Amino acid sequence: MHIVLAGAGHTHIELLRRGSEFRRAGHALTLISPEPYHAYSGMGPGLLSGIYSEVDIVLPAAALARRAGARYIPDRIVSCDTSARVLTLASGAVCDYDLLSLNLGSESMDKRPDDLPGRRVYTAKPIRELSALRVEIERCCRDHDGCEISVIGAGAAGLEIAANAKELLSNFRPQRSVVNLFSSNAAPAGLTGGRREYVERHLARIAVAFFGGMKVPPAEVPGDIIVIATGLQPPQVLRNFDLALAPDGSVLVDRYLRSRSTNRVFAVGDCAYFEEQPLDRVGVYAVRQQSVLMANLMAAAKRGGTQVEAGSGTIPFSATGPYLAGFNLGYGCGLLYKGSWTLSGRPAFVVKDRIDRAFMRRYQK
Ligand SMILES: Cc1cc2nc3c(=O)[nH]c(=O)nc-3n(C[C@H](O)[C@H](O)[C@H](O)COP(=O)(O)OP(=O)(O)OC[C@H]3O[C@@H](n4cnc5c(N)ncnc54)[C@H](O)[C@@H]3O)c2cc1C
Repeated sequence: MHIVLAGAGHTHIELLRRGSEFRRAGHALTLISPEPYHAYSGMGPGLLSGIYSEVDIVLPAAALARRAGARYIPDRIVSCDTSARVLTLASGAVCDYDLLSLNLGSESMDKRPDDLPGRRVYTAKPIRELSALRVEIERCCRDHDGCEISVIGAGAAGLEIAANAKELLSNFRPQRSVVNLFSSNAAPAGLTGGRREYVERHLARIAVAFFGGMKVPPAEVPGDIIVIATGLQPPQVLRNFDLALAPDGSVLVDRYLRSRSTNRVFAVGDCAYFEEQPLDRVGVYAVRQQSVLMANLMAAAKRGGTQVEAGSGTIPFSATGPYLAGFNLGYGCGLLYKGSWTLSGRPAFVVKDRIDRAFMRRYQK
């Protein structure tokens, strides 16, 4: 069987690490991803403050594929014909498959407006935008003695970006060091109670101006630099795949992470819509799906891609129970919580950092 992994997201990276298992079972594995490396979003904002370097935050997807004897195609998928089982790539090449797994992630909901002359605009995703943002902030500090940055959207990404951008700015001690964080919700990252109080206190302490309950278009916010962090949506390219999609445009999958349209296509992470229980768009779920996808793809391959039911090596995915949420709030501080448990301040960052680095070591070594 020829198994194609589309995208090098958080779930596929583990399948690539275990790629030799497919080969030993007699299957051929192919990875299609535009870049040979995958930037880990959990550590992305730390790139801004300088806690992490670019080397720290990338996962070597193509190298893992090669080590597993898999083929790596550096390209972007633009459409899929599921009846012919053929993918069309941006280069014009085609790739056929017996089984296909989609781990294509998500993209910024609001695109970069092109009518803001003289101002630099960045989006929270893809994560490489944060490298470019760092370079621009450093340039402003070097050439103009600082800058004003407005982050629009105070979900987890916007909150982390604002706090870490402020730390980077303050390292230069420039004359202008202003960071504004705008949110249509009253509270940052939808936090409540003591968690909300802690984060709002922290933002005030590091002098990030938080404007809650304000839905503002980019043209109306102040600043030399604007970061759009208004939320994530499934990749628009999925509309060119003849697969059943949820209303938000993600691939509808059953409890085995199989497409509702065909047994030969699986989808995981942000690009999938888990019918049984819609999930938050967080990397945590994509990681939790690793072993389930591995088992179910293997079981499907063993049966020649035909219907595989419970008990034949397949595992249903279960999203029950709270997940560990963690924020890097800059200046060595963080917030971690799960259910009713909360940890904040320096200890929270230390724990989050350890978890993130351990995750990376698994693939980087
Ligand atoms: C700044 C920021 C910080 C975040 N911090 C956290 C955090 O701390 N914890 C957490 O749980 N979540 C966090 N998130 C959310 C997290 O980024 C996503 O939920 C997570 O990345 C989803 O993982 P994924 O495996 O589905 O896809 P991704 O990690 O986005 O991977 C998608 C892959 O698909 C590839 N791809 C895309 N389109 C194509 C195509 N057409 N053809 C081929 N390949 C393609 C991409 O190149 C990439 O390799 C954060 C998000 C942002 C923006």
